[in-house]
Amino acid sequence: MSKINQNFLNLKENYLFIEIGKRIRGYTDKNPDKSIIRMGIGDVTQPLAPVVVEAMKKACDEMGVKETFKGYEDSGRGYLFLREAVAGYYKGFGVTIEPDEIFISDGAKSDSGNITDIFSENNIALVSDPAYPVYVDSSIMNGKNVIYADATERTGFAPIIPTNTKADIIYLCSPNNPTGAVFTKEQIQKWVDYAIFNKAVIIYDAAYEAFISDESLPRSIFCIESARKCAIEIASLSKTAGFTGTRCGYTIIPKELEFYDENGNSYNVLKIWARRQGSKFNGVPYIIQRGAEAVFTPEGLKQTRETIGYYMQNAEIMSDTFDELGIKYTGGKNSPYIWFKCNMPSWEFFDKLLTEKQIVGTPGAGFGKNGDGWFRLTAFGTRENTIEAMRRVKELLKK
Ligand code: PLP
Repeated sequence: MSKINQNFLNLKENYLFIEIGKRIRGYTDKNPDKSIIRMGIGDVTQPLAPVVVEAMKKACDEMGVKETFKGYEDSGRGYLFLREAVAGYYKGFGVTIEPDEIFISDGAKSDSGNITDIFSENNIALVSDPAYPVYVDSSIMNGKNVIYADATERTGFAPIIPTNTKADIIYLCSPNNPTGAVFTKEQIQKWVDYAIFNKAVIIYDAAYEAFISDESLPRSIFCIESARKCAIEIASLSKTAGFTGTRCGYTIIPKELEFYDENGNSYNVLKIWARRQGSKFNGVPYIIQRGAEAVFTPEGLKQTRETIGYYMQNAEIMSDTFDELGIKYTGGKNSPYIWFKCNMPSWEFFDKLLTEKQIVGTPGAGFGKNGDGWFRLTAFGTRENTIEAMRRVKELLKK
């Protein structure tokens, strides 16, 4: 008899975006003539940068020639050319990472879920509330206890460091999905101090670091020197360079990072992760890695920043709308998300916005209990849709 991993029975029944999809289908089946503007799932709408497409075409040609054809990649960590390019990118904002501390992945979602594999199920995972759902779900799938750090309007949606609980694994995300809040160096330093004191590890999700334009804000947890003793950083080209359908990201594990067994013996995290990847992951396609390498060239950075600028102009249009309406929100600056107070249960607001104005957003309650009463809209739409959506939002919410 095959037996289920019982941990899966502890998951909440509906994954947020599945429920959203269900409600949209329910509405469109009854109203096939209505045009819906989607500002819910944070997918991008602008194409890949020309320099990336060129690099991938060239790599495709190489794959068709015997002398340059590539099969499995030996290291299992990603090609050195891409790891060097990522290290060079970090150097650009003052952070030194060695290429062999970098693991190329097929995106931040896989690694932020998979990383839990190497930690004992006796670990307590701390997740901010609200948070991107993957941290909670993958911790539960791995049998870990999850505790929450409240992030509320009162704290500017910065999670509160526990004073009397010890967490072993701490998930932090900045710029934050869903709240758009961005950590200052001082705020991260406090989490780093807490993690070092408790011999805990921080899993730092930097999927939106490229949206930070304020130079005083940290783009990486490794902007804090001592974070090398307690942190893993997970990042992605999905939003940075439109790779949501192309799939490429990276995970950084400092060489000195350690974790422990029951008897207090220490083990090297990087080595254990490399061992795990060697058994369970066969790498990201060569063609995609060449495309990713192109993102980090001067021309690639220029082109991808133009697209980020386009999304951030959308964010400005959205912020202006909520300013004009006098509605409280966070994000929209250094972040592609607007998180606003909807003054009613957020699933109720979801249905109202969908049925009365044909706009799809994401109800805050889907990210945790503190998200209820709040609502997330993304700036990843097209300019036309963003302008039209804000016109409809004004109609709906004008007092
Ligand atoms: N981390 C955060 C905070 C996200 O919002 C997302 C995607 O929306 C991801 C990770 C996943 O990114 P990827 O497409 O690289 O898997």
